[in-house]
Amino acid sequence: MPTITILGAGITALSTAYTLPKSHRLKILASNLPGDLPSSQNWASPHACAGWVALGGLSPLEQQMQLDSLHFLRQLSLANPESGVRTALLTDIHEDPPVNGIWYKNRVPGYTESLNKDGGITTKYESLVIDPSKFLVWLRTELEKQGTVFERVEKVESLSELSGVATDVVINASGLGSRELIDVKDENVVGDRTYTVRVETEFKEMFVRRGKGGKYTYVFGRGDGTAVLGGISVPVEEEVKGLEEVRGEIIGRVHENLPEYFPSADPKEYNVLEDLVGIRPLRFAGVRVEKEMIGDQKVVHAYGTTIGGYIHSFGLARQVAKLVDDFVFEL
Ligand SMILES: Cc1cc2nc3c(=O)[nH]c(=O)nc-3n(C[C@H](O)[C@H](O)[C@H](O)COP(=O)(O)OP(=O)(O)OC[C@H]3O[C@@H](n4cnc5c(N)ncnc54)[C@H](O)[C@@H]3O)c2cc1C
Repeated sequence: MPTITILGAGITALSTAYTLPKSHRLKILASNLPGDLPSSQNWASPHACAGWVALGGLSPLEQQMQLDSLHFLRQLSLANPESGVRTALLTDIHEDPPVNGIWYKNRVPGYTESLNKDGGITTKYESLVIDPSKFLVWLRTELEKQGTVFERVEKVESLSELSGVATDVVINASGLGSRELIDVKDENVVGDRTYTVRVETEFKEMFVRRGKGGKYTYVFGRGDGTAVLGGISVPVEEEVKGLEEVRGEIIGRVHENLPEYFPSADPKEYNVLEDLVGIRPLRFAGVRVEKEMIGDQKVVHAYGTTIGGYIHSFGLARQVAKLVDDFVFEL
């Protein structure tokens, strides 16, 4: 029975563990674990919105990962609605139509498109909203029932340190941690501080406007009388913004786009439930999913999704499982 150690307990690690064959013995090691309250800013997964929105400008493999993830999560939402995953209609407005067209055209459920008066394009399809506070804990519980062991560790300094835990394969799902691990040191991974706000509202659907100059406005209805509104993303080195300022800007933009649901631009007119702020790991070179030998240790890297860790999750996990399989068959 192969033993697999996964460094990380965010959505990348959990979706990978959920996808690997049940015959493998799995151990998840991380400084931050699902269920931690309050959640540290040292990991991204508990702070996400988290909606599925097709991301542009990525390789065919990354597009496929996104689609695989959407299809898997849609099935999960039907079979296990208690998981915190639900389907919702998404309206996605591109003010500037993508140069190479809409890659996900007719590849997502219920796809329709229309041209905007100002030359942009609006697409609509059946997508997903995830409540990470439920989903991460749900995944952990399901994995523990199957025998996966979760262990909190102090900061791991290198992947080779993990060779000592007698494992056949190490999976590196450490997100931003891959920038600092001594034997990874991937400087392509950077952090973006992302600000969103959760408010009470009757809006149940999903709305995105990809505005000019990279201004990205979104509303993801959670279906429980609340929605997450976003967003503002800035490199982590920049000064931390005040939450009042952030609420004002985000709610102002959402009001302009959906005045029927958000009739005022004044944050004081809403019941603001929480400010969701987190550091999102980005890797502009694209997701790293590959095998490597570090000394005698077999390693599979799984990190660096551009902005959407949930959007790629189960598709990335599928690719990781194939690489683990290659290693396991060599044993
Ligand atoms: C406000 C906000 C909104 C977002 N909205 C969306 C969205 O709508 N859709 C979407 O798809 N994505 C969204 N994201 C992005 C998404 O949250 C991330 O892409 C995703 O969570 C990354 O998951 P991960 O498992 O790779 O990394 P993380 O969640 O960061 O987990 C890393 C794990 O590795 C562990 N770790 C790292 N280094 C070490 C070490 N050296 N030693 C021990 N443990 C270590 C950590 O403890 C943690 O368990 C959002 C993010 C934010 C902040």
